[in-house]
Amino acid sequence: MAVTTGFVQRFTWLKGGPTACVWVGPSPSPAELLFIQILPADSPSTVAFKRAMVGLLVKAQVTGREVDVGHPDGSAEVTSVATTSCNPSQTPLQLDAIEITQAVQDLAQAVPLIARKRTVVRVYLSNYASAPATVRGELRLRRGPSDPPLILPSLNTTVLDQAQAGNPSAARTDATRSLNFVLPDSHTGPGPLAISIADVTDVVSGNPVAFGCDRRPSVWFHASPPLRVRIVGFRYAQGMPPVTYTPTNLDFQMLLSWLGRAYPVSQVLSSTGLVDATAPPPFGCGDINAQLAALRALDMSSGGDQRTHYYGLVSDGGFFMRGCAGVPYSTPDPSAVGSGPTGPGTWGWDFDGTYGDWYGGHELGHTYGRLHPGFCGETQDDLLRYPFAHGQLANTDSSFVGFDVGDPVLNLPLTALRGTQWHDVMTYCNYQWLSSYTYQGIRLRLLAEAALPASTGPGAPSPGGGGRPDERYPGPARIEQTAAESAAGETMISVVARVNLTKRQGKVQYVHPVPGASISHVVDESPVSLRVVEQGDRRSREYPVEVRLNSELSPADDREGLVDAVVPVTGTARAVELLIGGDVADTFEPAREPPAIRALRAVGTDADGVRMAVESEQPIEQSQSYAVQVSSDGGRSWQTIGVGLREPTFTLDRAHLPEGRDLEVRVIATNGFTSREVRHESLRLSG
Ligand SMILES: [Zn+2]
Repeated sequence: MAVTTGFVQRFTWLKGGPTACVWVGPSPSPAELLFIQILPADSPSTVAFKRAMVGLLVKAQVTGREVDVGHPDGSAEVTSVATTSCNPSQTPLQLDAIEITQAVQDLAQAVPLIARKRTVVRVYLSNYASAPATVRGELRLRRGPSDPPLILPSLNTTVLDQAQAGNPSAARTDATRSLNFVLPDSHTGPGPLAISIADVTDVVSGNPVAFGCDRRPSVWFHASPPLRVRIVGFRYAQGMPPVTYTPTNLDFQMLLSWLGRAYPVSQVLSSTGLVDATAPPPFGCGDINAQLAALRALDMSSGGDQRTHYYGLVSDGGFFMRGCAGVPYSTPDPSAVGSGPTGPGTWGWDFDGTYGDWYGGHELGHTYGRLHPGFCGETQDDLLRYPFAHGQLANTDSSFVGFDVGDPVLNLPLTALRGTQWHDVMTYCNYQWLSSYTYQGIRLRLLAEAALPASTGPGAPSPGGGGRPDERYPGPARIEQTAAESAAGETMISVVARVNLTKRQGKVQYVHPVPGASISHVVDESPVSLRVVEQGDRRSREYPVEVRLNSELSPADDREGLVDAVVPVTGTARAVELLIGGDVADTFEPAREPPAIRALRAVGTDADGVRMAVESEQPIEQSQSYAVQVSSDGGRSWQTIGVGLREPTFTLDRAHLPEGRDLEVRVIATNGFTSREVRHESLRLSG
């Protein structure tokens, strides 16, 4: 009987066969090749034993534990697997664990690592000697066996006390009790990474310290799609004399930073904008979400990436607007919007200067299909069992621990978030972060959304279609109808309406032509439909539409929600009716053709930005309005910065426009069914 002691360098199942190959040794080379073969003649208990050995070897590779692998002399077939025992009486300094974390992790490395996401390696050491020691360390990193190793020094030193020895669970809840290493971008690309400790040094003496129970984990980084988000700040004025409230730059920065740190993404592709809230304060998130949906529909019809989520930020300076969002639970749908408050309040636990970050993380979580697990006063909507007690990140400190990898730009430090103190972001509890459950759920949704087309056009599937997968796309009959009637002067319109299903009330809020868009959110069956009413005796057409209910409803609340659909209208259409339960709840009738716009001029600049004026042939009337869009890429894509405007002046806000770059501005006057636009000459903003 021979025993090979070493680290699992590589593990693979032979293609198509029941044979596992494992390379064990002190380093990738030399390493000994051993195997486990499951044979057809094996009894069930033998198969179970062999599978258990495979499980131990895989776990040892991931966590980097040294193993003793038994095999007969002269044979490479594995007969036993055990982790090598560690002996503190021989070597007082012992390595307890190495954890590779990006937002939340356990010591078995259960949460997959995302390529190019900021990654911290935490090394836990125990000191069994009576005298405390302060140490620093260096890691050796390798992407492949032939890769020259990179030596990476720890960010910090740590004090090792005998009284705390042998308790890595306690050390994990405190970022100062591990040696921490931020991996360079060069070593977090898709693929494997082998990590080992190059040395541990006593800070006082400067001498290297020998340590026992070495571990050399190998981990895998997975390529992942980015988070695509547009954050729109809503400006409102309140009081007498009126005071204007807008989210601060810190509110925007901290939200985007938080999403990058807490969400399962390497990159947040973001843009920001600032618009005037159409509804008078104190408005609700339903008002803001309706305006945001209208803005988004116009952006999408003007070259925007359909996979972009929209979130509205509202300062709590004038009043507190509770947040809410749409929840596309069963199918990916980036058109679901959300909004929420922001401000400097601490809620008793959040002292980084703004709460709009985790609040936004909750509402955006809804737009990725996440439901309330049902803790701290919220309704339990998520009927899959949330895996941890009280909405926590973990049941014990020996399993999952949250970790905030920090943000050097915003001066945010590395922080360990104790799993039994912190709660999932989808709960209503304090101390909010992403649990492994929500992290994985959002990751799967992001992968599904990445498969959606970036743009739509005639024939492209509707990314907004809700309901079951087979209900998401307009049926063949509908597509044929659309194609035939497009030729006959049909246009697509975006209709955004708010509905209350309990009271059977509703209001059409925004109607805009969206040339190039395809039918969306039209379903087979719904209590709500849009009816396009024709002039004369031509037949009206009715489209059942999806209703996205407000995410924060309690059982006692009215069923309030948003309709955000694109339907076709003909040149002879005279109205769109909103039907709830078969009854007409509201009717939108377009006014006359919108007035021709003669010019758009910059009329002055102030601290906030550039004041613009629209000159049209006559003032706009009821049911007519302006929308304003800007483009910083020469007109390839446009961002809507004003919608439902009735005054012929508006301000281009400096803070959310690219400095020193040419900017194009256009104004669209519309009656809902038809529009006229004027494009301004390029404008250049300087700091
Ligand atoms: Zn919620």
